[in-house]
Amino acid sequence: MFIGGGLAISAAGAWAGCATTQSSEGGFIQTVTGPIRPDELGRALIHEHVAVDFIGAAKTSPARYDADLAFRTALPHFMKLRERGVQSLVECTPRYIGRNTAVLRRLSVSSGVKIITNTGWYAAVDHKYLPTEASAETADQIANRWLAEWKIGIEATSGETAPIRPGFLKLGTGGGRLPQIDSKLVAAAARVHRKTGLTIAIHTGDGAAALDELRLLREEGVAPEALIWVHAMNDPGPIQIEAARMGAWISLDGYSQAPHNVIRFPKFLEAHRSAGTLGRVLLSHDDGWAVDGNEPAGNRLTLFGNGNPAPYESIFTRLIPDLRSKGFVESDFDLLMVRNPREALTVRKRLIPT
Ligand SMILES: [Zn+2]
Repeated sequence: MFIGGGLAISAAGAWAGCATTQSSEGGFIQTVTGPIRPDELGRALIHEHVAVDFIGAAKTSPARYDADLAFRTALPHFMKLRERGVQSLVECTPRYIGRNTAVLRRLSVSSGVKIITNTGWYAAVDHKYLPTEASAETADQIANRWLAEWKIGIEATSGETAPIRPGFLKLGTGGGRLPQIDSKLVAAAARVHRKTGLTIAIHTGDGAAALDELRLLREEGVAPEALIWVHAMNDPGPIQIEAARMGAWISLDGYSQAPHNVIRFPKFLEAHRSAGTLGRVLLSHDDGWAVDGNEPAGNRLTLFGNGNPAPYESIFTRLIPDLRSKGFVESDFDLLMVRNPREALTVRKRLIPT
């Protein structure tokens, strides 16, 4: 950590006037324990979860799962990450799907793994995870809510401890052309990016939706480099390459979640290597635990993924050895898991020159 959490607002303010660059030099990355220099991020997993609650925005609450149970469940796996040389983990659980930043800070302090959390709302799955304000308010009003989390800190973390700030925006959309609410939320995210430089990660149903997101960002003056296309493996390949050439980040982030990814992920990575776009690709498992059923607090937490033997592991135990056998070398892994995450997460405005 290079400056204290209390300086984060002034750090954000200082960046408000900076021009777009293509280097993470001089920037910072916002973790749940405060800002760090980009070179402190180290080897990072770009898309993982701790505890997720899929019951929906109308019913979710902090009482839906036992925060201490979530901490105790995840901690041994965070300690294993340290042994594997993973220094940082991006926790992609949005508000209204179980985000609990106090648990994340506790895990980070106990394990030494840096954790990055998010602001933003998730519109995928028929808008089940959106609060009523998502339809009632304008893009600017919604942007102001997310900006408040950046400037003041995330709810329920104020008080005796330093506020926890988001390190990126996380949204979610379905497939095809985006519905009106989803488009409004992407516009709100673009406006937050223009003020803060926070990167915009969007769970995206397919390649058509990703191209629509890039169009909406362009209309707001935001460059493709500001977008992490989450679940880009939902596209069979050609639009991944097209979006990467435009400058977007291509997040291949569900390696543990489906058996056929063992075949698909190496093919995608070989295609990016051939196209010269490996410098825009990010890798992760999308692992974590879900609240099981509708019981009250004290509920069980169940590991995602049918047959997934352990969280946050299969990239190291299976994918990387497989890629080595296909001619990938250490500098490729350094690019995918150190340099690309560092560049993607650095808080910096990526604007279309006017
Ligand atoms: Zn996820």
